[in-house]
Amino acid sequence: MKGPRSRFSRRHLLALCTFLVPLAVLAYLGQSELQRRGTQVEAAVEREALQFVQSAVRAIDQHLDRELPRLADAAQALLVSRGPVRTPLALRAAGDSPLLDIVLLDQQNALVWPSPPPATASLPLSGDQQPRGEDNTIATALRSADLLITRGDLETAQTVLRDLIAKFEEANLPGRGGRRDLDEAEVTARFRIATVLRKLGDHDSARREFERVRSAVIGNNRRYDYDTRALGILAESAIAMMEPPEERIALLRTIAESGRDSYAADGLLTAVAQRLAETIAFDDPFFDETQALLREAYQRAQSRVFAGDYELLLKESLRRRLRQGSLGAAGDGEEPPVSLVSTLDSTTILFWVRPATADEREQLRCARVGMRFDLEQMLAPILHTFLGGDSTFVLSVHDSEGVPLVPAPVEVPEGFTPPVLEVRGLSLRAFPSNTERRMAETAAEARTRTYLLLALFVTALGGALWLWRSVSREAELANLKVDLVSRVSHELKTPLALIRMYGETLGMGRARDSDQAMHFGGIIARESERLTALIQRILDFSRQQAGTLSYEAEEIDLGELLRAVTEAYSPHLEARGATLIDDLPLGIHVTVDANACESAIVNLLENAAKYGPEDAADHEIELVLRRRDGMAVVEVRDRGRGIPPGEEDHIFDGFYRATNSGEVRGAGLGLSLVRHFATAHGGTIDAQRRADGGSVFRLQLPLSAPAGAPTEPVAAATVARSPSRRQP
Ligand code: ADP
Repeated sequence: MKGPRSRFSRRHLLALCTFLVPLAVLAYLGQSELQRRGTQVEAAVEREALQFVQSAVRAIDQHLDRELPRLADAAQALLVSRGPVRTPLALRAAGDSPLLDIVLLDQQNALVWPSPPPATASLPLSGDQQPRGEDNTIATALRSADLLITRGDLETAQTVLRDLIAKFEEANLPGRGGRRDLDEAEVTARFRIATVLRKLGDHDSARREFERVRSAVIGNNRRYDYDTRALGILAESAIAMMEPPEERIALLRTIAESGRDSYAADGLLTAVAQRLAETIAFDDPFFDETQALLREAYQRAQSRVFAGDYELLLKESLRRRLRQGSLGAAGDGEEPPVSLVSTLDSTTILFWVRPATADEREQLRCARVGMRFDLEQMLAPILHTFLGGDSTFVLSVHDSEGVPLVPAPVEVPEGFTPPVLEVRGLSLRAFPSNTERRMAETAAEARTRTYLLLALFVTALGGALWLWRSVSREAELANLKVDLVSRVSHELKTPLALIRMYGETLGMGRARDSDQAMHFGGIIARESERLTALIQRILDFSRQQAGTLSYEAEEIDLGELLRAVTEAYSPHLEARGATLIDDLPLGIHVTVDANACESAIVNLLENAAKYGPEDAADHEIELVLRRRDGMAVVEVRDRGRGIPPGEEDHIFDGFYRATNSGEVRGAGLGLSLVRHFATAHGGTIDAQRRADGGSVFRLQLPLSAPAGAPTEPVAAATVARSPSRRQP
């Protein structure tokens, strides 16, 4: 047989397909199953999130349904007796009420109380306002007085202002009742001079001027512009500061009770109230009253600011709600309350409107009562439970314009769409509370998926490889069987034919004489031995393939054994035209199966003779034994046809015959058995081409350990075996 057969057959392909196709299907099914499970998990999370938001909606609804009427009832009880400013104050003082203030509305939902604050509210410092026509000189005088006051030159400022006032007095005659009406510029000039006088320490004169301003402005508000009216309040406060506490408290009360709302901006009024209150010491018997009045002043200012917002923003929303039909005809007493949510100045408020009661309608002259609540404070106890860390989800709350009351978490897991629900003008969303954990879970799921697929793939690959190997092995064995049958039958045929032919010739008495009869007998004997040897090899080879070929090792003098072989074998070689030259020193000990060793050497010698040169007349075969590097080295050298390049290793494979073996008979088994013998004894065999023709076969066997040292048993050398291998 020449060269190895193809390693890939149809059977390989089939084996791979039967393994890989179901596996691919399995992997695909596994993957889609995992994906389906992943989607189910996602869906479950979103369902839970929705449930979470629904429960928040329910809780908020129930809480507001409970809280609003409760607070409304409490407010209603107070409203008529205490008024809309004190009612929220009283409720807040009594507990933790989120009611911020109350507004009163008429049938058209216009404000009845409080009046919204004036649009402009800047305090005039001087005659900054555009002078009217011929009053240019007055404005210049006021400006220069201001400048002088700022620089600290009060004397000159005083002179300028006095001159100015004198001019006013000359120009205007006293009005009815002996009092002369003051021009706006004169009010400013007099206010300025009063402050200068106060700084100079002339309190009586200062007070007189302040008094003049106050009496001109207060109670006469229609005539003056907004800035001048503010000066009236400031003059009034300056006078009160010079009076005993009762007077100051009286002014504070007036401010708190809205008695000066139309004179100045809320900011100025509360600043004045604050200044008045600061003059009442902590241990003063009026202290508590002062503080209460101050709170009222603040509350009033706050209500007025809200009244402005109401006019600007909420009224429209309220109208819309009314159009939607949620509020019936005003004043029928049956209409349901309406609530609106809005964010004003970063406070989210709930504006709640209910119809006024009969008492309220009568005494407060309103059709509806609007209440403003701090929604955040109101929902705090409810939201608290939905923002707690132990929940799987957290809530985000936005008002109808999208302003966050409770903002959404910064990190939201990829692909997660929060469910949105509306309640009372708020929009609620739910997010997984522990985004990191959720993301880690998702990542872990993906990892598991990958590992699983990887494991499937590795298993498939391992299985496929294993299948490949076993199919290959099977194919090899099948090939081997075919080879064995064809080659062996061919090898058997020739000796059998010869034996039969010469046997028949002899049997029929056809031999010419006894010499010829002996010659025929010799041929029959030689061919029978050849047959025996061949059968022995076949048996050994099949044992070798089955892994049952074993040896019985014993220590021998290799030189001695080789000498015996040459002695027995050289006549045979000589008969074939070869000369054996040996060099076999004694004392080189090895531990081997002696019979197998002899067979191996005979095999090598026989090959040297078989594959000798065509012209065998002068063929020298050398058999040399040496000791080298702890090994016994046996070399069989010949001058034969040599081994074709690249086949030096293959010739040791079972059934392999070199391409130049020609007509020489052989089954290709001998060298395979020699190699088995060498490796089983820890040795090697190799073949080399000789540069000047022929080949060298080198068998190396480990030397026996020196006497006394333990000898290592030869691998698998347990089964006793002693067939005679001696060749003819
Ligand atoms: P066989 O001799 O029965 O064919 P072997 O296993 O003994 O089987 O040898 C295998 C092959 O190695 C031979 O067919 C031959 O081609 C080659 N061979 C062996 N010995 C020699 C040698 N001394 N010179 C050249 N070729 C050799």
